[in-house]
Amino acid sequence: IKRIVVKVGTSSLTHSNGKMNLQAIDQLSYTLSGLVNEGKQVVLVSSGAIGVGMGQLNLQERPTDIPAQQALAALGQSMLMTIYQQRFATYGQKISQVLLTHDVLDYPQSKENVNNAINKMLAWGIIPIVNENDTVATDELDHKTKFGDNDQLSAIVATIIDADLLIMLSDIDGFFDKNPKKYADAKLIPEITEINEQTYQHAGGKGSKFGTGGMTTKLKAAQRMMKADKLTILANGVNPSIVFRILNGDAIGTLFR
Ligand code: ADP
Repeated sequence: IKRIVVKVGTSSLTHSNGKMNLQAIDQLSYTLSGLVNEGKQVVLVSSGAIGVGMGQLNLQERPTDIPAQQALAALGQSMLMTIYQQRFATYGQKISQVLLTHDVLDYPQSKENVNNAINKMLAWGIIPIVNENDTVATDELDHKTKFGDNDQLSAIVATIIDADLLIMLSDIDGFFDKNPKKYADAKLIPEITEINEQTYQHAGGKGSKFGTGGMTTKLKAAQRMMKADKLTILANGVNPSIVFRILNGDAIGTLFR
């Protein structure tokens, strides 16, 4: 495994009060920089912009209107990249900002541009940090579910650049037979080789206050990867250095293949 896309959710980057989790961001920077030094090519898909923006404005609840969410995303994105820039720099790692919309797949030329540009960044040892371009994302029909859905965006990026593995880091240990935040007896499913209606029924509603997609979008992402014959691992990102253990082959989280 040489080329990896790592997706971190809002839940891994912000504390429950909405403040940025700087320790987690630092550890993520340390870990991913370490991987590049080992010769891996790494793309980070980072959520958290809206959460960070909310923290900056001291908002307790995520606003429901789209322009407010877009404004918060723009505010938070800039702050988020500043923090990443600082943290990665302490490990001598260069990063870049890549803002994409889901419809990149609908335009072959855009798709090729994204692939070529990211390939160049990876060849130069840069870690591209990808997020949805929330200011221009206009998937109006489906806006409520698509907005902020970096799970599927991470799978889209992984397939475009032909990555070997997508690692999704969230606030739970993997995919369970029911929502572990609601049911104490939920059981972790270590491996999934088929995603069907029943699998989706195991995925409850959205999780944390600041998170967005919940499990449904993670399943859709994993499904996209499986279709492209690529691996996905869902694991707990409370301690992002878990990525070292995943790449070491330890049985962690849920493997979709
Ligand atoms: P992130 O911000 O990391 O993308 P989300 O909050 O969007 O995370 O989604 C993770 C949440 O999904 C978990 O905290 C959990 O509450 C919820 N969830 C629902 N169903 C399941 C399930 N079957 N297995 C694991 N988590 C589930």
